[in-house]
Amino acid sequence: MPFDLLLTGGHVIDPSQSLDALSDVGIRAGRIVQVGPNLDATGCPVVRNVTGQYVCPGLIDLHGHWYEGNLYGIDPLICLNHGVTTAVDAGSTGYANFPEFRRNVLDRCLTDVLAFVHISFMGLHAPYAEELVDLRYARPEETAAVIGKNRDCAVGVKLRVGCMTANHGIAALDKALAAAREAAVPLMVHISRGAEEKEILRRLRAGDILTHCFHGRGNGMISETVIPEALEARARGVIFDVGHGCGSFSWDTARRAFENSFYPDTLSTDLHRYSVTEPLTVTLPQVMSKMLSIGMRLEDVILKTTAAPAKVLGREHEIGTLAPGALADVLVFDVETGQFSYTDTHLKVGYGDRRIVPRLLVKAGQEHAPGSFAVNLRALYDSDMEVFRAIGH
Ligand SMILES: [Zn+2]
Repeated sequence: MPFDLLLTGGHVIDPSQSLDALSDVGIRAGRIVQVGPNLDATGCPVVRNVTGQYVCPGLIDLHGHWYEGNLYGIDPLICLNHGVTTAVDAGSTGYANFPEFRRNVLDRCLTDVLAFVHISFMGLHAPYAEELVDLRYARPEETAAVIGKNRDCAVGVKLRVGCMTANHGIAALDKALAAAREAAVPLMVHISRGAEEKEILRRLRAGDILTHCFHGRGNGMISETVIPEALEARARGVIFDVGHGCGSFSWDTARRAFENSFYPDTLSTDLHRYSVTEPLTVTLPQVMSKMLSIGMRLEDVILKTTAAPAKVLGREHEIGTLAPGALADVLVFDVETGQFSYTDTHLKVGYGDRRIVPRLLVKAGQEHAPGSFAVNLRALYDSDMEVFRAIGH
């Protein structure tokens, strides 16, 4: 049977198969059918010559906020503009509003959206009085029950520790861990200023995720060196995720981590209403380009946005791979060379000589042009400016 879409001559990088070579990619009925040189184009209605460009699995963004029923969320359709075919919501909803989020977003968006369910009943609602200032909002039983009923798209439990948990961060962590154990899913923990990193890291289990690993607000986990608790957690199988956002990526912290050979396991944007526009306009290719600029190899940057997050999600046979049978989510991109400036969330400018630019996206076998999806963002209010002021913007 002929392919219905064939990409020819591209430089394919698929870390899931240790593939890094010139190759064609054959697609039929929304699935990858074959990857190899000189595939037979006979009868194939659409053949794209992508010679001179890179080809990799559609990107997976492990951390973003896609529920517009609170002040953080934005429309996940925007992900397709950046080459991201699977977007993971990091706990924008809790057990009370997850079903509505599912109905109106997860089940409808062209981008595949999976979600962590927040231990707080309504998820993240507002930055000015956050979700766990009252510990009664943390609901292990109900959270585990909702995950149990939505296993196809509810992938874990989320918790933010820092100012949003007032002074009971560890009590909240214990409740979130109880929910994750009950539902047999990973826990994603956000750390920011005020989080008790050592205590958190001691409690996390293999497969749990620590996000904002390079936030650089206070020197909790990484100062001159990386604290032993982080090294022990990594050895145990805890995942360290970037979660760039509007306040969680520091050049200095990332460089110090790299000097200590402490690299992130997954790269993610933490895209939301406060990181999507100026001054940061975060995208996943931009976060990837930043990692290239401080010494990560292109193959590793692809690994950490494809096969690695797919494995964290337990979906490594379906997404993040170009293996035959996988969903036909594919990104064609260029790596431009020049001098590019990149800003961290402390507004410190760094420079890099490469930039990843998405050129063609295939989502479930259908072609799309990155940048072609129009997305409306909610208006900002004066109260929103508090968020930018709080992080020094
Ligand atoms: Zn987030």
